[in-house]
Formats: sequence, structure tokens, C-alpha cells
Amino acid sequence: MRVGILGLQGDFALHQRMLTSLGVETRIVRSMEDLEDCASLVIPGGESTTMGGLLVRFGMLEALSARIREGLPVFGTCAGAILLAREIIGYPDQPRLGVLDIAIERNAYGRQKESFETDVLIPSLRDQPYRAVFIRAPIIRAVGPGVEVLAWFEDLPILVRRGHILAATFHPELTDDPYIHRYFLEQVASRLTVR
Ligand code: GLN
Repeated sequence: MRVGILGLQGDFALHQRMLTSLGVETRIVRSMEDLEDCASLVIPGGESTTMGGLLVRFGMLEALSARIREGLPVFGTCAGAILLAREIIGYPDQPRLGVLDIAIERNAYGRQKESFETDVLIPSLRDQPYRAVFIRAPIIRAVGPGVEVLAWFEDLPILVRRGHILAATFHPELTDDPYIHRYFLEQVASRLTVR
């Protein structure tokens, strides 16, 4: 079964490169039909307002939200995490999938720190630090019950999971460390063997 990558906008090609390097078959998803033979979906970074607007324009917002609620495993990075969130702080009308009980603030690190890389710990998953790349990143300000925080940076959650839904405020596709993608495939989307 393929892994779908939402390809309406943003850096979907880099997720495809990463997943291909893991030996996984991918499909760029631009319609609900494209999603049909996909076992899971990655929603890339980019611009969440544009991506959300395109989901509305292509009639995918409600249908995709329903598929995720029904159990489609999904991994949202940066703008993708924003689209998954229940609450986008300060933007109550911004289109979103609203499937993950977090409150997220867009572009929240301010100008000085707009884009940066740093080593973070993912204590529940592995011993070695992980190099996280942040680009105009959001901050997760609140997580609802049942949302597990897997990693923090400066005491704020940067990688969260609720069951089949995984969200990162950073860009794992911009490093050459496939760790987070592999975690998604093996632990969140499961039953996919990757090399
Ligand atoms: N700032 C972007 C937004 O609000 C997200 C940035 C990113 O995906 N790198 O959508």
C-alpha cells in the first residue's frame, strides 16, 4: 500500500524523496480519488492558509477530515500540523481539518528565530539527539487529553501524537535523518515494513 503525500502546495517533493529513500511507494494526492489506494497520508509544510484554501476549493476539506476521523493514519509537519489542529490561535476562521486536539499558534517564534536548527531530545523514542529544522514554525500552546507529547523544545511540545495522528512543528523532510518518517510508518501507520 502506498503512502499518500498531499501535494496541493508546500514541500511535498521532499517528503516524497525521504519516503522513496526508505523504499516506500508514494503517491502525490490532489484529490480524494488519489487517496483511495493510500494506506496513510503525509501533509507537508508550506503555507497553511493557502493549503487550507485549496482543500476547500477542491472540495477535499470535509472529506479528508472525515477519512482521518475514521482512522486514516496521518502525519502533518509544520503547516501540516496547523491544518490538523482543532484550534489555530488568532485565526478562528482559517480552514483546517480540526482532527487533533491541540491549540497551535502560527509563526510563533518571532523574527529573531524565524528559521533555526537545533538538537532536541525525543526521550520516549530514542537516546540520541535529533536535529530539528524549524521554518516560520508554529508553537503548540495546549494539548488536549489523550494527546501524547513525544518531544519538546524549550519546554514546548514539538512532536505530538494521538493514536493514528502525528504532528511535528519542525521539518523532518529537510534533514537526512529518516527517523521520524520511519517512526510514522512503523509505529503510527504500522504494518508497513520499511528498510
Ligand atoms: N508559517 C506557515 C503557516 O502558518 C508554516 C510554515 C511552514 O510550514 N514551514 O502556514
